[in-house]
Amino acid sequence: MKPLLWQHAPNDVGERLYRLAEELFPIIRSITGQGVRDSLGIIDALTPVDVHSIPTGTQVFDWVVPDEWNLRRAYIEDSAGHRIVDSINSSLHVVSYSTPVNATVSLDELRQHLHTLPEHPEWIPYRTSYYRRTWGFCLSHQQYENLTDQRYRVTIDATLAPGVLNYGEAVIAGETNDEVLISAHICHPSLCNDNLSGITIAAWLARLLRQRTPRYTYRILFAPGTIGTIAWLATHRDSIPRIKHGLVVALLGRPAPLTYKRTRSGTAEIDNVVSYVLSSRASNDVVIDFSPWGYDERQYNSPGIAANVGRLTRAAEEGYPEYHTSADNLDLITPEALADALQTLCAVIDILEGNDRYRNLLPYGEPHLGKYGLYNDLGGASSVETAKLALLWVLNQSDGASSLLDIAQRSGLPFADVQFAASRLEGAGLLERMRAAY
Ligand code: ZN
Repeated sequence: MKPLLWQHAPNDVGERLYRLAEELFPIIRSITGQGVRDSLGIIDALTPVDVHSIPTGTQVFDWVVPDEWNLRRAYIEDSAGHRIVDSINSSLHVVSYSTPVNATVSLDELRQHLHTLPEHPEWIPYRTSYYRRTWGFCLSHQQYENLTDQRYRVTIDATLAPGVLNYGEAVIAGETNDEVLISAHICHPSLCNDNLSGITIAAWLARLLRQRTPRYTYRILFAPGTIGTIAWLATHRDSIPRIKHGLVVALLGRPAPLTYKRTRSGTAEIDNVVSYVLSSRASNDVVIDFSPWGYDERQYNSPGIAANVGRLTRAAEEGYPEYHTSADNLDLITPEALADALQTLCAVIDILEGNDRYRNLLPYGEPHLGKYGLYNDLGGASSVETAKLALLWVLNQSDGASSLLDIAQRSGLPFADVQFAASRLEGAGLLERMRAAY
């Protein structure tokens, strides 16, 4: 049997995930622009990522790739020339996709372009205006209440012009062309749980997968939310049927129970595998049904795509007060939560990789197991009784239709014990592994 994927992770992987989030945190990211390229460059230093470009104006299904947005600096100056709001302090201060502006405006006019959170007066909100041309600043409500001058100078030094949309892919070739897709959005500026946690975990997963040759081919996709995923789907029509299992990963850095959101069908193998892994953990993890709201699972589960892509998060979107605010920062996420999520993903992948179906080659009564030495050498299973039971369950259920996960669930035995029993029975010539229907 192959070593467990998690065994390739260094002991301090939680700290390393966190440090990667620290490195990515200050970058001004949006759905396009230099910030996405810089972020993909940092990921590429950890594990190779191919960066692709789709030009502005490209029709992608019902959408059009927008102009590229690049922000250099933005600030509001009071009448004494003090920069009271400055993008150098937080990339959240500027509404993403703001049009350039350089003007002196009245306080009344300025207020029409300001966004605050009165219920959390110290936090800066995160706002975007991708498809409606406007400009704006986000600031704490405390800053807002200190605006008493009658006139302010506003500067947004940005360009909004034809360019490209970028996405990155780490493809780890496996023994088959069938793919497992792991998808993380990469369009949020200085926000940690949403979405640096997903980016860092996906990047580390790619790095771990490269330590071995997996059965499936893995495609780790770093794309801007919605438009990036739609652009990828529209330009990879041939790849879509090869996606056998997939997960959108996001919101994984905060100490909170994991939440798995099922695929549109709710009965895909990935649904069973992740539900099983979560149910095996001593935690309050939850499994919820699909809904056409949330992250890029919306695109993968649209009826014309219908890929088996679920979603792994902790609290679901808007399920925590810091969501889309400056309080979703490096203080909100922990190395432990990041590592725990990565470890859970490794467990999911281990089962996907090993979830074979077998046929019992001596199905007439029980085989005389003592003859094959199968009652000796039971090392590896969690107990002798479990090991014996696992042999009998695997023999009984191996009709070519039941997967090892089906057998684990029906028997209540750990998947690893069932898998170990199957490998021993196969080694003794009592089982034949079914060729997957690739
Ligand atoms: Zn978000």
